[in-house]
Amino acid sequence: MPYLLSIDQGTTSSRAIVYDESGQAIDSAQKEFTQHFPKSGWVEHDAVEIWKSVLSTCHEAIKKAGITAKDIIAIGITNQRETVVVWDRATGMPIHRAIVWQDRRTSEFIENLRESGHEEMIQKKTGLLLDAYFSASKISWILKETGRLNDAKDGKLAAGTIDAWLSYKLSNGKSFVTDVTNASRTMLMDLHSGEWDDDLLTLFNIPRALLPDIVSSSGQLGKADAQHFGAEIPICGIIGDQQSALFGQLCTEPGLVKCTYGTGCFMLMTIGETPVLSGSRLLTTAAWKIGNAPIHYAIEGSVFVGGAAIQWLRDGLKIIRTAPEVNDLAAQVEDSGGVVLVPAFTGLGAPYWDSSARGSILGLTRGTTAAHIARATLEGIAYQVTDLLGAMEADSGRHISTMRVDGGACASDLLMQMQADLLGAKVERPKNIETTALGATFMAGLGSGMWESIGQLQKIREVDQIFKPAIKVKDRSARLKIWRKAIRRARNWESK
Ligand code: ADP
Repeated sequence: MPYLLSIDQGTTSSRAIVYDESGQAIDSAQKEFTQHFPKSGWVEHDAVEIWKSVLSTCHEAIKKAGITAKDIIAIGITNQRETVVVWDRATGMPIHRAIVWQDRRTSEFIENLRESGHEEMIQKKTGLLLDAYFSASKISWILKETGRLNDAKDGKLAAGTIDAWLSYKLSNGKSFVTDVTNASRTMLMDLHSGEWDDDLLTLFNIPRALLPDIVSSSGQLGKADAQHFGAEIPICGIIGDQQSALFGQLCTEPGLVKCTYGTGCFMLMTIGETPVLSGSRLLTTAAWKIGNAPIHYAIEGSVFVGGAAIQWLRDGLKIIRTAPEVNDLAAQVEDSGGVVLVPAFTGLGAPYWDSSARGSILGLTRGTTAAHIARATLEGIAYQVTDLLGAMEADSGRHISTMRVDGGACASDLLMQMQADLLGAKVERPKNIETTALGATFMAGLGSGMWESIGQLQKIREVDQIFKPAIKVKDRSARLKIWRKAIRRARNWESK
């Protein structure tokens, strides 16, 4: 029986999962790796440790599944996006620790670009908002810090996101590629052509010779050398993690939306083959490219604090011992008793983009209990997601009737029901909420020819539960009005 091996290289751990022909996960392995915080606002990973964690989890998953490399038709890779590695082509070793997407060290450089009036040009070309989050300023920083700009120009160095690093290592340096979804997060790719853009390379002072070739997300993308697993295995899928979850949810038609409820919440909507720019400060991004077919695009928005608000109830307030306990506590009361919690602990993301906002609990009375706060916390997550979907509806001019969900916190039935109520739309939870790894598996399965069409994948996706709105339209409007009032109070809190 043929198998697929999916590599899910995340921000805190690496996972490898073996899937069979019917799209079922057979066995998996997971390994955490070290987070380095050398200064406030700096986050780094050791790219060699990441590579070793990937290799060892692959070996473990293959062993657990009782198969050999010969049984594996293809590898699919999905990865944390934007994080960059710069390495020496001669030695295959990084010249600096990887700078992680969360890292803020290049904020000042980005502010200078904004002040010099480059934001509009950048948004038009890349679909991204000017921010230190994306890869370009991080690569520039490493070249400057290490004094290796000339080596980069001479083609002695290589730079890329984690997918490029892993496919380089897996192929023993024979493939130096990045897929279009990862490339679209670097701030160096023209979203329309799917090619590196010379003006952007000049702006960030990044030589073209440093960068990988941009390839499809699905197809014959490289080969893992026989040295690693005992036989050569083709790499047939490469896709960034959020896009992978979008495809894993089979949001393949324009207007289909998924929201991942993890530490933060990430929402993506497929918009088709034309990259429409957002008027609501959302991002436009490449969603996938299968073989020679055109690039498909998505709009994306994120909530900084999602499940993390539940972690705060556990670790900060200590009113619950485990995350799932939030549901029992919140269920002790009928409603939040007028309490509104805005989880703006680290500011507000799309569509507000207010870094000076801070978390607030409003409407407290002598009757407020921990249960009300727990309920208001869940509602605070659902309200933020509602704002995001509203922005997507405004951008796309579509009314969204169903949202697909995944991520750890979507296990909460209470949260999902609140979400359906506040959205006035259905919330659909699949049986397999491991959609990130599944997307890369789909890419690898399609790219290797194991599966022939997207239609065939529909059979693999099974729905667990659909939550339908159960409140009146006027109640929803009243609640959203109170939420907007609370948002106004939470904004502009920290003085700049
Ligand atoms: P990440 O990938 O960002 O680490 P996960 O997808 O693993 O996040 O989701 C973890 C989050 O989900 C945590 O923030 C936790 O608070 C929340 N969570 C996990 N289980 C539940 C549950 N049963 N009910 C509500 N929240 C939950």
